[in-house]
This record gives sequence, structure tokens and C-alpha cells, in this order.
Amino acid sequence: MDIFKTTRALFHLPEGVTYLDGNSLGPLPHAAQDRVDAMMRDQWGEMLITGWNKAGWMEQPSRVGDRIGKLIGAEAGHVVLGDTLSVKVYQALASALELNPDRKVILSDSGNFPTDLYMAQGLIRMLDRDLELRVVPPEDVEANLKDDIAVMMLTQVDYRSGRMHDMAHLTEVAHRSNIITIWDLAHSAGAVPVDVSKAKADFAVGCSYKYLNSGPGGPAFIYVAPRYADVVTPALSGWLGHAAPFDFDLNYKAGAGIERMRVGTPAIIQIAALEAALDIWDMVDMAQVRSRAIELSELFIKEVETRCPELVLASPRDAAQRGSQVSFAHPQGYAIMQALIAHGVVGDFRAPDILRFGITPLYLGHDDIIRAAKTLQTVMDGALWDRDAYRVRARVT
Ligand SMILES: *Cc1c(COP(=O)(O)O)cnc(C)c1O
Repeated sequence: MDIFKTTRALFHLPEGVTYLDGNSLGPLPHAAQDRVDAMMRDQWGEMLITGWNKAGWMEQPSRVGDRIGKLIGAEAGHVVLGDTLSVKVYQALASALELNPDRKVILSDSGNFPTDLYMAQGLIRMLDRDLELRVVPPEDVEANLKDDIAVMMLTQVDYRSGRMHDMAHLTEVAHRSNIITIWDLAHSAGAVPVDVSKAKADFAVGCSYKYLNSGPGGPAFIYVAPRYADVVTPALSGWLGHAAPFDFDLNYKAGAGIERMRVGTPAIIQIAALEAALDIWDMVDMAQVRSRAIELSELFIKEVETRCPELVLASPRDAAQRGSQVSFAHPQGYAIMQALIAHGVVGDFRAPDILRFGITPLYLGHDDIIRAAKTLQTVMDGALWDRDAYRVRARVT
């Protein structure tokens, strides 16, 4: 029995829709709906405030965080959930900068997701100590890992092209110059095998609503390597990161290890959805998911290139250098994607010209890939995208 047939049945996939956008928002696991329902009725409804103790709500950010930790190769007890990824980037960067107080430069690349760069810009302004954000092309990162760099802050898999950095190699080169490393795993967790411990990453952050399927606004996660977990001083020193929140001490004292990266009250309803979604990951191993994803990606590239020669592959051709998405470029990319969605195949668009397709074996198979490529061909051959309605930019693209 193909395990991916089993996992596919665990998701709600709307009738008539082929969904290649799980890299942006994973679909609803049936169990998440039931789990949230039960949590609201039996825990929130019946236990009220006592749920924090009785149902273990207070431990959930680290307990469920550990389950994500397993998927990214983190040591047990070194991942915690909370807030949004933007906030976790800010926290990691503030702490990383404090570990290298005599240096002034944050190195990132132009393939990074803008919010990561924006958070760095805001933090630099707040710290007001002549810090610089140096943004170089992705292929120039290694050559820029020099002694003036305090922190290397990268997203492993490029959100537009799917190009993947070699985490272990860049981390090793960075460490030779005593640079602290932060890896954003937004498009890695649940997408490709990751081993933060083996790669010796210092900090890692990511979100749960993309490949991990926790639903819109699901909690982010942060990893701090054991060597720093008890050393870092959180910039967002909220009460739930305090050593003893219910002492209501007037002065902040950081909690033990990763607990100090908590800020405020966790989103328990959303964590219930995430936990149900993570149960599905217990049924597969990442190597198995990766090899199926590569198989499906190669098939998609071959089919689209044969059927739609006007679309230009915008992802690395070498599967080893690609995350779990495939992108194509076309000047009319936005309208093409809207027409494709209207015909039942959902991907998304990233400015200026990228059509993005997430490859997610848990709920996508060969038939879906073929159907997506054929529909794309229909849209291209008939110029079905060439309508004013498809050119109107929605708020979310
Ligand atoms: C999706 C994504 C984000 C989103 O951040 P939120 O705070 O969750 O909205 C941030 N960084 C990267 C690299 C992403 O891919």
C-alpha cells in the first residue's frame, strides 16, 4: 500500500480543485477540524481557566514545539512555538547580535523573504548602534562571510524560485569567522530533510501553516542551539518567558533554556489544529517525502516544458538544489495564474513574473501533476488568461 494514498485521505481537498499551493497555506486535515472542535467543547467550554493546568495548555508550546523539532533535527527541548514567524525572526536576530556585540553587519541575501529583511531594518533602528544590513545576491553569500559579519541570516529555500542554500556548508564557513547563523526554515520544515543539529545552526525559525498544515495564522517556531539556549537574553522579554511567571516579580528573569523565547499567551486553539496536522507526519519519514517530492517535481517540469514552451523554468533544474516547489516565469504570470485557478488548479503568483507551484506528496500524486500541467496547457494554448478580469490584482496574490 502506498503510504501517500493513506495520507491523502486524511486531508479535506475541495471537489474539483488540484491544490499546488501547500507551500503557502497547507490544506485542512480532517483531524484538525475534529481536534479543534473537541478542544473548544471539552477544554475551553468545560474547563475554562482550569484548562491551563488540567489540559496542559501551558506546556503545549514546548511539547508540540518538540514535535516540529523532530522534523528539523533539533535536540529535544530546544524548540518552542509562539507568535508569528516575523516576530521569531526579530527575536532570533536580537539575540544573535548580542552574542557578537563587537561586530556591526547582518548579512542576508536578496532572495530572502521581505519580512525577514524588514524585521532586521526595524531592529537596527531600535538598537541605534550603527548596525548595517548587507544584502547580497544568494550566490555571493559565501564570499561575503568575512570577519566583520556579526550574523548571517538566511532563508534556506527561496520563496520565489525554490533555490536551496547548503545549510551545513554555509554554517561551517560562517563559524570559521565566528559568525552567528540564523536559518529561516519557512519553506524547509515539512518540505525537505533538515538537520539543524548536524548542520550546527545557531538559531532556526519557521512557520507551521505552510508545509506543516496548521491553518492560517498557525504559530511559528524558534530553535536555539543548546550551547546558547541558557545564554541568550531575549529582547521580547514577555512574562511567559520569565523563570517564574506566576511569581509576578517586577523584574524580568529569563526562563530556563528555550522557554525564555516564549513571549505571551499561546494560541491554544491553533496549536490543537497543528497537533492534529503533525500526527500525519508521524506516519511518514522525511526521506520518503523528499524522494516522492522530487519524483513529482521532475514530472511537473517535464510536462510543463513539453506542453507550455513559453513558460521559463525559474527554479534550479538540479533537484538537489531545489526545495519542494517549482516555479515558472512569464511576463503575464499574474493573469495566467488567475485563469489557472479559475480552471481548478491552484498555485500562486509572486511579483514580478513568477508562477509558483508547491509539491506536497502528503496529498498530491501523479494524476494531480498531470492534470495541473494539462490545464496549464489549455490556459496557454487558448490564451484564456487574456481577459481584463484576470489582470485585476487581488490583495493577496
Ligand atoms: C512565509 C514566510 C514568512 C511569513 O512570516 P509571518 O510572520 O508568518 O507572516 C516569513 N519569512 C519567510 C522566509 C517566509 O517564507
